[in-house]
Amino acid sequence: MSADGAVLVLNSGSSSLKYQLLHPDSGDKIAVGMVDQIGSVGASAEHQQAGRTWRHVGDLPDHHAALTQALAFFTDAGTHLADSDMLAVGHRTVHGGQSFSAPTLVDDTVIGEIDRLASLAPLHNPVNLMGIRAMRELLPDVPAVCVFDTAFFHDLPARAATYAIDRSVAATHHIRRYGFHGTSHEYVSGAAADFLGVSTGQINQIVLHLGNGASASAIRGGRPVDTTMGLTPLEGLVMGTRSGDIDPAIVMYLRRVSGMDIDDIDRMLNSASGLKGLCGENDFRAITDLVEAGDPDARLAYDVYIHRLRRYLGAYLIELGRVDAIVFTAGVGENAAAVRRDALADLQRFGIVLDDERNTTRIPGARRISSDDSEVSVLVVPTNEELAIARQAAALVRAG
Ligand code: AMP
Repeated sequence: MSADGAVLVLNSGSSSLKYQLLHPDSGDKIAVGMVDQIGSVGASAEHQQAGRTWRHVGDLPDHHAALTQALAFFTDAGTHLADSDMLAVGHRTVHGGQSFSAPTLVDDTVIGEIDRLASLAPLHNPVNLMGIRAMRELLPDVPAVCVFDTAFFHDLPARAATYAIDRSVAATHHIRRYGFHGTSHEYVSGAAADFLGVSTGQINQIVLHLGNGASASAIRGGRPVDTTMGLTPLEGLVMGTRSGDIDPAIVMYLRRVSGMDIDDIDRMLNSASGLKGLCGENDFRAITDLVEAGDPDARLAYDVYIHRLRRYLGAYLIELGRVDAIVFTAGVGENAAAVRRDALADLQRFGIVLDDERNTTRIPGARRISSDDSEVSVLVVPTNEELAIARQAAALVRAG
């Protein structure tokens, strides 16, 4: 398959990088790849294209080296990206702050602004920028587009976006609820409306993006009115390794009594909390096995996870007043039937009735798992952030 007209979607993490070359209209994937442990001598890269797999193990000191390796894989597979008529490179960019409400063509000013926003997302924006800068050097003639994880939530109503803290401190330091996973929430809510044969403007939805990171959103007529993540992706639901909501005083208390410094506490809340903190595992499959084997820590972790999910479901049911669809997506949401069953147990009085057989029957694509007499449609809709990024990048470049 030719790379002409395709979009290379890039997701740069601190020590890893994922990419996909795909056609934005058909969604056909030309290649997928990932590089792990960038910066270490044990870095490994894998590239799949046309039914074959290429691998590299060895020193990849930085993102530039990792992407050079990725481009070499393409060349090995007979696709010379530099000579092709690619449409764009789409960069998943985590924090767009108040500055970015839509996909944006990369230039020096945009890079400067993403850099300035790094204080809001120190774990994400600097590494996103490494990928952006490296691609500009490696493929200077291909338009680069940033697609922001926060953009969908840019116009959250002030009542949902505002923290009740000293307003001058909040204003000085740009503290508000930004929301994340926006590309997924937007894509999945659009796909759910398509499945139901209506436009997003006609329905109210609760979207539950339950992956290793997890967030929920309340969407009224296509526009989000609330979401669980806040200034950073730490707030809200219980996640694989993140705590979600806690009493903020825990941070001050630990700082005073534990000897942990602020970076230790940051690391604990982001990397050693959530399901992993409660039972030592963050992979939901392993947790399900442990629960079935009677492990009490896994049982508690599962119960806390479901309890938090139901708390937000209740909040969003009230906030929206009328809910037409509840949509499950991402690794856990798409695959863990027990989570869907337990999250929605005993909600008949709210018009929510699951069909057990539909819930446990796996079929690819979007599907309904509520019973025919359920007032609220409950759906499983696979997310596809790469395709959403490719489409948004393509639309921007074509419009220009
Ligand atoms: P994501 O971040 O969307 O890639 O989702 C990752 C999460 O999905 C991990 O916690 C996985 O354990 C979970 N997951 C993937 N497949 C399954 C499955 N078949 N059953 C339960 N959880 C799954």
